[in-house]
Amino acid sequence: MAIMMKTLVMKFGGASLVDCGCFSSIAEIILQRLEEFSQIAVVVSAMGDTTNQLIELAKKVHPDPPRREYDMLLTVGERVSISLLAMALALKNHEACSFTGSQSGIITCARHADARIIDVRPHRLLPYLKSGKIIIVAGFQGVSQEGGITTLGRGGGDISAVALGVALGAEKVEFYKDVPGVYSNDPKSDPKAQLFDQLTYDAALKIVENGAKVLHPRSIMLAKNNRLPLHVRSFMSTKDDIAKGTYIFDQSLTKPSQPQFEAITNHA
Ligand code: ASP
Ligand code: MG
Repeated sequence: MAIMMKTLVMKFGGASLVDCGCFSSIAEIILQRLEEFSQIAVVVSAMGDTTNQLIELAKKVHPDPPRREYDMLLTVGERVSISLLAMALALKNHEACSFTGSQSGIITCARHADARIIDVRPHRLLPYLKSGKIIIVAGFQGVSQEGGITTLGRGGGDISAVALGVALGAEKVEFYKDVPGVYSNDPKSDPKAQLFDQLTYDAALKIVENGAKVLHPRSIMLAKNNRLPLHVRSFMSTKDDIAKGTYIFDQSLTKPSQPQFEAITNHA
């Protein structure tokens, strides 16, 4: 009988990567999840404020940088994170391999700085996952069918994580945040904000469309269209808290027979 390989996608954003010491803490969280999941793919953003700094740098050279070169520059931020995280895991004696968006088969339309994911072809990642290595994928970036390096728009690492979860048939995507989950209002400015245990995709979409920055709306849409569960939790919580956070799902939806990535209609 074939052994079921449970796959988890974990996403760590810039707020969880503010300095070099963060890589070791994140590596610990990843290793804990191996108790439950045999295959783990991790998607990371650029460290802290790196993307803003790269944009400032570009603007010092050209006030309106060519989009192709802007994307080439911005994707560097995530490459720094993936390689350092793989090193932090290696130091803890666990084999991990980093991959750019392009190496991961994240195929986008050709629109620089605001590309849509039209397909994910993760065949290069599969042998690594099957042999128990942790794979670490650069969020926010992909490659067009013409071979151009693209980015997905600000905050796009969430979309990469969901797209990868869909392509790998993951059980869920866990988003590690500096807050314990999704709130009715920003918990940093409103102490009365309510923390949700569970939300439907539509309810979560409404919250982010009202301005909460907790997840990129396109990542929730992508998860909804593929009926992929999302789990928002804190990177500061302990092992005992692992089941907590906000679970986003909708039982009433049917899962499509084929993965559905992003539409590029009305998106010239
Ligand atoms: N690093 C990119 C940004 O700051 C993408 C992301 O963080 O999701 O917009
Ligand atoms: Mg983000």
